[in-house]
Order: sequence, then C-alpha cells, then structure tokens
Amino acid sequence: MPGPAPPGPYNLVVTKPAAEYETVSTVHGDEGQRVLGTVVMKFGGTSVGDPEKITNVARRLVAARDRGVRVVGVVSAMGHTTDELLELAHEVSPQPDPRELDMLLSVGERISCALVAMAIDALGREAVSLTGSQAGIITDTVHTKAKIVEVRARRIHEALDEGRIVLVAGFQGMSTGLDITTLGRGGSDTTAVALAAALGADACEIYTDVEGVYTADPRVVPDARKLHAVSYEEMLEMAASGAKVLQLRSVEFARNHGVKLHVRSTFSDEPGTWITEEDERMEKAMISGVTHTVEEAVYRVQGATPADLFAALAEKNVNVDTIIQTGTDVIVFSAPLDDRGATAGTLDDLGATWSERDDLGKISIVGAGMKSHPGIASRTFATLHDLAVEPQFISTSPIKIAFYVPHAELERVVKTLHAVFDLGSPDAERRHG
Ligand code: ADP
Ligand code: ASP
Ligand code: MG
Repeated sequence: MPGPAPPGPYNLVVTKPAAEYETVSTVHGDEGQRVLGTVVMKFGGTSVGDPEKITNVARRLVAARDRGVRVVGVVSAMGHTTDELLELAHEVSPQPDPRELDMLLSVGERISCALVAMAIDALGREAVSLTGSQAGIITDTVHTKAKIVEVRARRIHEALDEGRIVLVAGFQGMSTGLDITTLGRGGSDTTAVALAAALGADACEIYTDVEGVYTADPRVVPDARKLHAVSYEEMLEMAASGAKVLQLRSVEFARNHGVKLHVRSTFSDEPGTWITEEDERMEKAMISGVTHTVEEAVYRVQGATPADLFAALAEKNVNVDTIIQTGTDVIVFSAPLDDRGATAGTLDDLGATWSERDDLGKISIVGAGMKSHPGIASRTFATLHDLAVEPQFISTSPIKIAFYVPHAELERVVKTLHAVFDLGSPDAERRHG
C-alpha cells in the first residue's frame, strides 16, 4: 500500500489492486490539471544498443522538443545489459539476494539514461538524467517485481519548466522502505506509462525494434501484419500471453488512467499501433492476434485446498496464470518460469503432492470480435485436430481462447492458426476507412 501522500499538486497515488488484472487502479491527483503538450517517449534496449543509436535517440528527443512540447524520455538498459548483469549475479551466488539484485540491475538503465543526456548535450540542448528514485517513482517493497504505488513528479516538472529534456531510467524505483527496486522484465514500459499518467501527458510513445504490435510475433510468423489499432482489453490479453512488446502492467496502467499508447519503430518514421478504446474495426476484425509463450511451467497439485494453495502462492508473490480444477482433489495451474523456486518452495511447505511440466508452451487467440462471433473455438480445435495436436488445459475469456501444446509443436500451430484466421491478409491490419 502507498505511504502517506506528500504535499504538492503532482502526485499520482495508486490505491488498491484492480479487480481483473490485480495491479493498478485509480489515480488521485492531477488528472484534472493536465498539462497540454507533454509527451513521454520510451526507448527499448535495442534502440539504445550502441553509441550511434544513443545519438539517434537523442536526435528524436530533441526533434520533439523543437516542436514545442515538453519531453520526457524513458530508456531501457543497452542491448543485453540486463541479461549480462543477471548472469554476473549468478556467477557469484546461486540465489542472489533480491535486494542486492535490484541494486545491480537498476544500473543498466542508469548508464543509458546518462549517455542519452550527454548525447543531447552534445547536440546543443539541455537535458537532465534522473534515476527512478530521483524521478519520484515510489514502489512497494517486492524486490525484482515491484509495483509502482505513487509518482512524485515534482522534480520532473521543475526540470521541464526550465525547458530541459528529462531522461528517466526505466524499470526501477524506490520502495516505501527506501530501497532500490526493479519492476520486472520489460518494466521500462511501465515506468513510461506511469509517468505519462502522472504528468497528464498527451501520449506515451513506445519506441521498439519492430514497427508496432503485430498479429503474431513477427520473428516467428514472417507474414504477421502490423495492427493499426488494438483495444486495451485485447492488448492486456496479448501482453499477458506472450506478446512481450509491452509489459502487461504498462497496459493495465494505460487502461486505468486513459493513457494513449503508440507502439512504433525507433528506426523509421512509420506510424505504428495505437492502443485505444475498442471501436468497430476491432469488432469486425474478430481476431487481433495469435500469441505464444514458453516462459511458463504447469503444475499439478494434490492435497491442498484452492484457498490454501493460492493464498500461499500470493504470499510469495507468484503470478499464477491459468487455473484449472480437475476432479475434486486435483488443481492445475501455470506460473512464470522465473517464479519456479518460489512456487516449488510454497508447494513443499504446504505438504502437497505435486509435479511440474516445463515442456509445454501456451498459445492464445485474442480478439474483441470473439464476443459476438461464434465459431472461433470450433475452427481452432478443428485445426488442431487436422494437425494431430492435442491441446491441453484449455481456458477462455470473452476475448481469448488459450491452450497448451508441447514446445516442439508450438511454431507449427501458431503459423497454421495465423493462416487459418487469415491474419496475413491486409484486412487483418484494421486500417481506418
Ligand atoms: P524493447 O527492448 O524495445 O522493450 P522487447 O524485446 O521487449 O523490445 O519487445 C519487442 C519484441 O516483442 C519484438 O522484437 C518481437 O519479437 C516481440 N513480439 C512478440 N510478440 C509480438 C507481437 N505480437 N507484436 C510485436 N512484437 C512482438
Ligand atoms: N532492461 C529491463 C529488461 O531487460 C527492462 C526493460 O527493458 O524494459 O527487462
Ligand atoms: Mg520490452
């Protein structure tokens, strides 16, 4: 829970978990005092991968400033820095202390943030770089996957008022216990959206290494199409099920605070994908995409009640996804591979009998039009039947059908379903008009 709100008009206070996606909720603060002409621009790891790219990012930020808007840049760590820091930690300790891990991982974003500020300076404009804590990003105390509970944006406003471009190190904050925290993999997206909400920005632009949100991961399905528009609900489902182009929590923030999100390429000026309220294009198009993930393990548990089991997992901050109860005594659920140690420890502590599978990948078909168009499930499962693949642990929401298949079958099934639902055709793109 957030600590007491400090004085001043620029506070964003996130009070209680949202019902459906458990993390963020209402802003109390300056939504009524939106400052027009503010933009938050976030650049991912590939976008700041080397000095030349850093200078290009600086140029983009300067160009936006020169159009007369107040500019906040949020940057990720350069290239694979976060992975390298994680490896380094594991070389000195089999189970790095989470607090110390956060101290280490937060450094990646500080490096790129300072370098972009220097590059802006070299272009003759004024910039200032801030760590997450200097920028007033206050989180809960859960190390390595902290949630933002409040943004105290006074210092950012002051720098913007002085005409500076403000660079904020993504993926990190300071906990209510005054420790450095990080926000989970992909967390710079959430830094950017939370800042856009707190600053009342006109839009949050997410610059990345693909041109937008696609009908499937373009690295797996070569004929995937860039979507022109995706609803918040669709994007939540896609982000929750493997479309890592946006961190799930960033989409929750955007939806809950009405932040307009534009996902686009760092390397071109093409318009990308707008994440917006649902409109008739989405309804008509039925399916927005086919997503997949191999980053989950599936657990089969006996000898624990659902109440005890999920309370114990929540206590350890394990993000449980699919839950299926089969029979009276067997519970099947999935959880991130990253939470493997915590999950195993919890199940042992409960004295449950359990087994784990890490050879399954989850495929999800997502689309707002599913609500009003029957037949998506039957086409999906007929396709799997034709491919002689047996889906496991099927689950649904009003706009999603998800199931698990063995890793070895994953790509073939994703590609086939993408083709069956005609997602490679220009119609899938949801252009206006
Ligand atoms: P960044 O470093 O900019 O944050 P990420 O690697 O986190 O970038 O996210 C971008 C990647 O997400 C793309 O390179 C792409 O491979 C992957 N991705 C997975 N699914 C999708 C999708 N449906 N649309 C776009 N990108 C996707
Ligand atoms: N650098 C962090 C990561 O690799 C955060 C981010 O890129 O958004 O997950
Ligand atoms: Mg990312």
